[in-house]
Amino acid sequence: MIRENSPVILSVRDLSAEIDGTPILKGLSLEIRAGEIHAIMGPNGSGKSTFSKILAGHPDYRVTGGEILYLGKNLLEMEPEERAWAGIFLAFQYPIEVPGVSNLDFLRAAYNARQKYRDQPELDALDFDDLVREKLDIVKMDPAFLERSVNEGFSGGEKKRNEILQMAVLEPTLAILDETDSGLDIDALRIVAQGINRLAGSENAMLLITHYQRLLDYVTPDYVHVMEGGRIVISGDKTLALELEERGYDWIKTQLGQESAAATSRREEEG
Ligand code: ADP
Ligand code: MG
Repeated sequence: MIRENSPVILSVRDLSAEIDGTPILKGLSLEIRAGEIHAIMGPNGSGKSTFSKILAGHPDYRVTGGEILYLGKNLLEMEPEERAWAGIFLAFQYPIEVPGVSNLDFLRAAYNARQKYRDQPELDALDFDDLVREKLDIVKMDPAFLERSVNEGFSGGEKKRNEILQMAVLEPTLAILDETDSGLDIDALRIVAQGINRLAGSENAMLLITHYQRLLDYVTPDYVHVMEGGRIVISGDKTLALELEERGYDWIKTQLGQESAAATSRREEEG
């Protein structure tokens, strides 16, 4: 739901960033308020994953300009783990495997770190077990997955559901889901969408990065943004996603090309 008066969770202004000296983000701006669901779409290579990794604090990227405020604080000065404790959650496009660490221990460690940061009580193994079993139900996961190493040998769909389980346990303030919908069959997609809808509330915000409009049949975004060449080139409501589905991304490029041509000829006329 769009809440123009609700607190700003994330404010990104004119962000530019590079990796290995190659500029990837080129002036990205975005504002997300509590209670909102935003979707970022865009062609492959437009910088969507780069943006999500920069929000989470991935060390490979160098921010070269602009600013990011998270709950009014300078996010770029926060260490990656502090960002997580403060409620930023990133579900990776390619979830990592953590051999030798059980899913249950991993979840409890992450949960307790966040509790500690918030001055909330940590949970012992028994109490945490109760909490996690309740959350398992949201993603329809077999409890046997708790005893297995994090994501090790999980199928693509199981990994994505495990990301939603982590999200349900951690109850983030800002959840960023990078193509959590890709590679899912329709049942898994519904489960993932249900998890997102259950977690979305008036106190938090969701940023869904998706290449396809399919997920948006189940989760209704308040805003849809299209990224192209490292910045957001067009924003709209959910109808924009449908239009993209129908007309493809080239349509945006054509439209932008026409707009910039029009602007050039205006300048020439005024000139
Ligand atoms: P998306 O998620 O929108 O598909 P990404 O953020 O993954 O896009 O990638 C954005 C661009 O950054 C791509 O063109 C990709 O090739 C480029 N890129 C990623 N890693 C590197 C790297 N190490 N050096 C140079 N370019 C890179
Ligand atoms: Mg990506």
